[in-house]
Amino acid sequence: MLPRRRGVEEIPQPLTHLKCLECGTVNSRPFTGGDYVFKEVEERCPKCGASKMKIIGIYVEEERKTP
Ligand SMILES: [Zn+2]
Repeated sequence: MLPRRRGVEEIPQPLTHLKCLECGTVNSRPFTGGDYVFKEVEERCPKCGASKMKIIGIYVEEERKTP
């Protein structure tokens, strides 16, 4: 029995992949509205701490369903 059922299941969650302009580290986080490829966003690089990263891709994480 699941208490939370509001029809929000089975919505694929896209992931935004960001690349640090300083060190080239690639990071990913859940997609948020307004993201698009090659956009430069003010997000901190987890590795070098620079505050500018560029979106290099937006993908939907798919579950592999191989028959
Ligand atoms: Zn960096």
